[in-house]
Amino acid sequence: MTTTPARPLDLLDIDGLHSEEELAIRALVRRVVDDHVRPNVAEWYERGEVPVRELAKELAGVGLLGMHLEGYGCAGASAVAYGLACLELEAGDSGVRSLVSVQGSLAMFAIWKYGSEEQKSEWLPRMAAGDAIGCFGLTEPDHGSDPASMTTRARRDGDDWVLSGGKMWITNAPVADVAVVWARTDDGVCGFAVPTDTPGFSARVVHHKLSLRASCTGQIFLDEVRLPASAQLPLARGLKAPLSCLTEARYGIVWGALGAARDSLHTALDYAGAREQFGRPIAGFQLTQAKFADAAVELQKGYLLALHLGRLADAGRLRPEQVSVGKLNNVREALGIARQCRTILGANGISAEYPIMRHAANLETVLTYEGTSEIHQLVIGQRLTGLAAFA
Ligand SMILES: Cc1cc2nc3c(=O)[nH]c(=O)nc-3n(C[C@H](O)[C@H](O)[C@H](O)COP(=O)(O)OP(=O)(O)OC[C@H]3O[C@@H](n4cnc5c(N)ncnc54)[C@H](O)[C@@H]3O)c2cc1C
Repeated sequence: MTTTPARPLDLLDIDGLHSEEELAIRALVRRVVDDHVRPNVAEWYERGEVPVRELAKELAGVGLLGMHLEGYGCAGASAVAYGLACLELEAGDSGVRSLVSVQGSLAMFAIWKYGSEEQKSEWLPRMAAGDAIGCFGLTEPDHGSDPASMTTRARRDGDDWVLSGGKMWITNAPVADVAVVWARTDDGVCGFAVPTDTPGFSARVVHHKLSLRASCTGQIFLDEVRLPASAQLPLARGLKAPLSCLTEARYGIVWGALGAARDSLHTALDYAGAREQFGRPIAGFQLTQAKFADAAVELQKGYLLALHLGRLADAGRLRPEQVSVGKLNNVREALGIARQCRTILGANGISAEYPIMRHAANLETVLTYEGTSEIHQLVIGQRLTGLAAFA
């Protein structure tokens, strides 16, 4: 028996399931978050502005951009190590983890997996170094869960492509150097690496967000954007290409959401130990302890699920519907944990002095983007019944 006080993630000695290298990467990312995110994030959030370029350089400095990709200046880390990094980043803020997810798992992965050698050499080393920012444009104002209905078009004009249409809710679009844009062609959905200084391309910031405020979100306008044939991602054929990128990013969310939950639980535990009502710490009340117990149990179940999916990914055996299980469960439970922990802080729980309300608000976005929780239920339902309810 140990007398060490139980903390949310070591109740079950889960750390013993990790290699030394994984724990070292986790410690490194935790330090980066402590040094560069925690001191500033409440202010970024209140202002609704985040210094994307400066932050990207800091994160690139420790190999976090495209960290699970091989070659082209990327770190080539394991899926589990990447997941741990996402968890620690999102313990700082979901917006910061989103920056890393969009850069590495969406924009860089799309070019890495489906791009030409020329596109990879042009963009990936700069993106890994944080010198070029990428975004990933799939969602449109009228087509979110159903991207197959997209209206953005790419038509041939001689050897060139001409893109017209628009994308909505695109993370980092207003600051990006390259936009991976998905468009309908006569041959189905195709992807394009679009330099954002191409005439006809413009992006504007989406204001008035009440969630994910420490993240830059934008709308993209494509007004007859003329691109050389070499801008097309040659290996991307059909909607399964962008969907495979989303599976990559969702995998990071499976881990990331746990970070927001863990930070909420740590904050509530610290607060409840110090806050007294009725002459005793509120941590000593049975109802408070029930909240802590339920949160810790869900957090650890979610962690074991994430780790299992990570080990499957590292063995090359992770299937998309398994990622849906992880995203559905871990984001839903993380949001529940954040909401419960918020109540433990009472009125202070709604203050930006503490991170919990920010995490809870962020997790509303995380519940919706990269496939809503309903769509993931339908993916799982299809796997169980053999019937597609949404195609
Ligand atoms: C802050 C933020 C950042 C984002 N970043 C990006 C990005 O970088 N790139 C990008 O391409 N997109 C991005 N998105 C968009 C995101 O992926 C979409 O919002 C998401 O896919 C849902 O689409 P929608 O908002 O149009 O909702 P809708 O598709 O209109 O859905 C509305 C509701 O209807 C439900 N619904 C829809 N269809 C069905 C069905 N068949 N059965 C049952 N229920 C259904 C949904 O689950 C949801 O509850 C971002 C979104 C946010 C909020």
